[in-house]
Amino acid sequence: MSKVWFVGAGPGDPELLTLKGRDLVARAGAILYAGSLVSEAATRWAPPGCEIADSKEMTLERISAWLIEKAAAHETVVRLQTGDPTLYGALIELVQPLDAAGIEVGVVPGVSSAMAAAATAVESLTLPEVTQTVILTRVAGRTPMPEGESLAELARHHCTLCLFLSITLLKTVQSELRAAGWREDAPVLVVHKASWPGEEAIVRGTLADIREKCRAAKINNQAMIIASPTLGARQWPTLQKSKLYDAAFTHRFRKGAEAATR
Ligand code: SAH
Repeated sequence: MSKVWFVGAGPGDPELLTLKGRDLVARAGAILYAGSLVSEAATRWAPPGCEIADSKEMTLERISAWLIEKAAAHETVVRLQTGDPTLYGALIELVQPLDAAGIEVGVVPGVSSAMAAAATAVESLTLPEVTQTVILTRVAGRTPMPEGESLAELARHHCTLCLFLSITLLKTVQSELRAAGWREDAPVLVVHKASWPGEEAIVRGTLADIREKCRAAKINNQAMIIASPTLGARQWPTLQKSKLYDAAFTHRFRKGAEAATR
């Protein structure tokens, strides 16, 4: 029986595709990829004769029709999505028509651009006693934010915020963070094309100047905004260390020094 796989292609670097995703690509009869970002992952490992198409100019109906049509002809059909398919990927809208057509569906997770951006900048999204929470969100563009999810409301937690789809809305990001009580010198990081070999750009700024800096660097697409009290910790002289590696801390795999000597 045919199966349509929604595969997370990762943030750009084809090597960040999972092994499971690569194996599916390697035996796919047809691959539909989402725009130029993930084309290389598709073409690098696709088998000879595989039908490969770009969904960039297709409507949702056309994409569904394509997947259904190819599932009739091939056992394995792959829909490659940027980053992780469960984030801002229209996953359910695409799964429903396949369900209705009685076609089996599988999802393979991918490395999200939020993780890739933090990795590129060598930042940790959580730090002990600084923040233990990450919010993945966006500001309202053409898609409105549901009640209670404005950035001003979410930012009141003063935790790590990873903002997708918001680079052209930095002015709004600034005003919402200010409304939530963030200081003008709060660090903000923007990573453009995280993980793209030779094309990454990192902009470090503050709530006050990040917009100007991004404008100067001409960054207006494919960018992750991270606002977090953890940013820049690599340079901090004092750091609250994680309990996990603390010599005195006992856990399932290691007896802490205190417990061991008792
Ligand atoms: N499912 C994807 C997100 C798709 S929404 C994921 O998990 O990453 C598209 C948004 O993702 C862009 O507006 C941008 O904010 C972010 N994005 C995708 N690829 C990126 C990359 N390589 N570097 C920085 N941001 C990226």
